[in-house]
Amino acid sequence: MRPVRLMKVFVTRRIPAEGANLKVISTMSVGIDHLALDEIKKRGIRVGYTPDVLTDTTAELAVSLLLTTCRRLPEAIEEVKNGGWTSWKPLWLCGYGLTQSTVGIIGLGRIGQAIARRLKPFGVQRFLYTGRQPRPEEAAEFQAEFVSTPELAAQSDFIVVACSLTPATEGLCNKDFFQKMKETAVFINISRGDVVNQDDLYQALASGKIAAAGLDVTSPEPLPTNHPLLTLKNCVILPHIGSATHRTRNTMSLLAANNLLAGLRGEPMPSELKL
Ligand code: NDP
Repeated sequence: MRPVRLMKVFVTRRIPAEGANLKVISTMSVGIDHLALDEIKKRGIRVGYTPDVLTDTTAELAVSLLLTTCRRLPEAIEEVKNGGWTSWKPLWLCGYGLTQSTVGIIGLGRIGQAIARRLKPFGVQRFLYTGRQPRPEEAAEFQAEFVSTPELAAQSDFIVVACSLTPATEGLCNKDFFQKMKETAVFINISRGDVVNQDDLYQALASGKIAAAGLDVTSPEPLPTNHPLLTLKNCVILPHIGSATHRTRNTMSLLAANNLLAGLRGEPMPSELKL
């Protein structure tokens, strides 16, 4: 067999013209929004990706971020350090809890379900979800109700965005969406930054239209350190660490490497994207 020259392949919005010989792409992610899928399909390029192996870890981070945000942990930690912690005050640093709440999940896919599964034991009363169509089998585990996006916005105490970024979901969480939310509601995004209109989110947070937001993903990434969202106490921002545990990143690396090798050998990939 001729030795195969492996190249690091990094595709952003478009496959570069010089990639005319490109046959296989292996992305170490489940998200595929960074791939120029039309072009890839047209050129018969095979794509390997890493679904499932990061689901639990990403759901764990989503729950961590939700609790961190709704119970105002960054503010509380800061108060301990800066001397703001004085005598006990009944309403000081009060936040919002999950018990008896309504949680709305945008995208009840692998990660969306894993988030619901972890949130249920906190005493969530009702789950709502949106998507392109109802998923009655998956929803049954949580008695989750399929609703329209405006209904989800209006009725939820916590909203978790867990959908993929597509032309249909880009900018989905915008001014209209935030206007419909409760003033006491908490917004969490672990999907992709571009699902959210960040200017509209800033306005909603700064004006008190919504209570708080927790973002693991932003647009752009990294978020510039002078971005207005970083000035808000009620906005918690993480540097896209959803799948960042040692075990999961190792598993993702192996899967991505095996996908690439199988693709180059013309064999079935362990995890190939169906285009
Ligand atoms: P799945 O394919 O299992 O789920 C994708 C979900 O998106 C489905 O529930 C789908 O619902 C929903 N969706 C698609 N189009 C729409 C739409 N127009 N409106 C509402 N929902 C929609 O993927 P995963 O759960 O494995 O991953 C989801 C996303 O999470 C990834 O695409 C990635 O962007 C992000 N992610 C982020 C990570 C992080 O580090 N923060 C780590 C891993 C993933 P339906 O099919 O019913 O329409």
